[in-house]
Amino acid sequence: MDIIERDIEVLWHPCTQMKDHENLPLIPIRRGEGVWLEDFAGKRYIDAISSWWVNLFGHTNPRINAAVREQLDLLEHVMLAGFSHEPVVTLSERLVKLTPPNLKHCFYADNGSSAVEVALKMSFHYWQNQGKTQKTQFVNLQHSYHGETLGALAVGDVAIYKEIYAPLLIPTLTAPSPAGCYAKGEESYEEYARRQFKQMLALLETQADKIAAVIIEPLVQCAGGMRMHHPVYLSLLREACDEYQVHLIADEIAVGFGRTGTLFACEQANISPDFLCLSKGLTGGYLPLSAVLTTDEIYQAFYDDYLTSKAFLHSHSYTGNPLACRAALATLDIFAEDNVIENNRNLAQVMKEATRSLQDHPHVSEVRQQGMIVAIEMVKDKASFEPYPWQERRGLKVYKYALEKGALLRPLGNVIYFMPPYVITPEQIYQVADIAQAGIDIATC
Ligand code: PMP
Repeated sequence: MDIIERDIEVLWHPCTQMKDHENLPLIPIRRGEGVWLEDFAGKRYIDAISSWWVNLFGHTNPRINAAVREQLDLLEHVMLAGFSHEPVVTLSERLVKLTPPNLKHCFYADNGSSAVEVALKMSFHYWQNQGKTQKTQFVNLQHSYHGETLGALAVGDVAIYKEIYAPLLIPTLTAPSPAGCYAKGEESYEEYARRQFKQMLALLETQADKIAAVIIEPLVQCAGGMRMHHPVYLSLLREACDEYQVHLIADEIAVGFGRTGTLFACEQANISPDFLCLSKGLTGGYLPLSAVLTTDEIYQAFYDDYLTSKAFLHSHSYTGNPLACRAALATLDIFAEDNVIENNRNLAQVMKEATRSLQDHPHVSEVRQQGMIVAIEMVKDKASFEPYPWQERRGLKVYKYALEKGALLRPLGNVIYFMPPYVITPEQIYQVADIAQAGIDIATC
C-alpha cells in the first residue's frame, strides 16, 4: 500500500469532509525546504499560506533546526508546575520586552484555541476575584474566528464551524464587523470602522456591568475571510474598554509576528490589550506552543494565600515545552538579526504590484492587503458584490489548479489569499500571483 492508501485507512484529517478524498488526492509531503514542500514523487509546491499561517522563515530553517537539535540533547520536556527551565524564562523575558508595554506576565498553553480559553477564563476569573460576579459575558465581532474548542468556538462567528454546535456554546454578544470591505460607496476604511464602532460602543455603554471582555483579531479577521479593518477601531475600542471597565483580549494568534507589517498588529493603533494571545508564528511554525500575556494588575488579582481559592488552576501537560520554547527563541533571534520587518515592507510592495491587475478582474470585488497578507475576493456580480453560492465551491477549483501548477493556496470560501513565509522571493511572489490569477479565471468562467 502506498502512503495515501495507508493514510485513508487510519486517519481522520482536520477541517475535511473525508469523502472529498475519493476524488481529491491527498498530498503526502516527504520534505520541506524554505518556501518549498516536496511530495513523494518529487513535485514541489510553494507554501503560499505558510502551512496554516504558522511558518515564518521557511521549512527546515537551518537556524531553528540547530536550536531545536541543541535543546534535544539537554532537555526535551519537563512539567511547568513547580518546575522551570531556561528556554521558557528567556522566552518570557523577551516576549514581555517585545509586546505592548502593559503586558508583564506570560502564561503558556500549547495551541491557539487553548490560549483563547486561557484568556477567557482569566478575564472571567479576574472579575470573580474582584467581587464583580455579574461580569460573565463576552463580546465578539461578526466574522471573527478564535479556534475550535468550545469556548473559543463560542466567541467566534463563522457559521460553518459553529452552527451545529450552537446548543453547546456559551452565548456571546456580537458587534458588527468593522471590515472595510463592507464600506459603502466612497466611504473609507477609517470612516467605516468609526461608523461600525458606534454599535460596539452602544453594547458597552448599556451592558458593561455584565461584560467581562471584548475579544478581537486586531486588523485582520483571518479565518472569517481575511477581512481587514482600520486601526482606529482598535484605538476606539481600547478607550471604551477603559471607560467601561471591560477587558480587551487581542487574539494575535494569526496576525502576530510581523504578518500585518509590524511585529504585533496592536502597535499600529498604539494600544496595549489586557490579554494578548500568541501562537502559530511564535515557534516559526515548528512546534505547538501558545502564550497569553497579561498585565500586572490582572496577575495580582490572583496572587493571594492558597486558601483564598483565587489561583488560576488551569494547565496543559505540554505547557511551555522546552523544545518549542527553543524554536521560539531561535525565531525571535532571526527577527532581531535580520531586519525582518523592514525587509517585509519590500516584499509586501511586491505582493501589491503582483496582484494589482486582479483588481480589474470581472469577478473580483476587492484585492485587499495588510502587510504580508493579500486577499482576493471572488464574487458572482462585481457591481452588487453578490457572492457565489458556497455550494459551488469555486475556491476549491483554485486550490486544485494551484496544486497542479505547484503552489499551495487554500482559499477560505471565495477568498483566495497569500500569507507566505518571509523567505519568499519577489520572483516566487509573481509566480504565485500568476497561478492565482489563472486559477481565478478558471474558477469564475
Ligand atoms: N485564533 C485565531 C485568530 C486563529 O487564526 C486561529 C487558528 N487559525 C486560532 C485562534 C486557533 O488556533 P489553533 O488552530 O492553534 O487552535
